[in-house]
Amino acid sequence: MPRFARGHCNGMLLVLGLRATVRVLARLVGSCGRCGNRGPHEVVESVRKFTFFFVPLFRVGAARYFQTCTNCGLETPLTEAQARSTTPSPHMLGPQDAPRQAPQDRR
Ligand SMILES: [Zn+2]
Repeated sequence: MPRFARGHCNGMLLVLGLRATVRVLARLVGSCGRCGNRGPHEVVESVRKFTFFFVPLFRVGAARYFQTCTNCGLETPLTEAQARSTTPSPHMLGPQDAPRQAPQDRR
């Protein structure tokens, strides 16, 4: 949600604000820790920018990274390195994602 402030300064109207810009870095398939649904998850970068008359000028603070379940909306914070990597983070993998063991020979 954009947040804006309007102020009058010597008869001039100033429209200042902060706006969060969200960018999807990747789409992964994983299991959600909350709803349990195995489906698409989005790796998202969120950056807040200072706006002047609704024009974004510069970044405010550090970017936030998280993984979002597209089913229930659960947001799991990620580090930048995790977000930049294309492999799913280990905590998103459920037991069904573990490497399957080869059937043992029964002799
Ligand atoms: Zn979910």
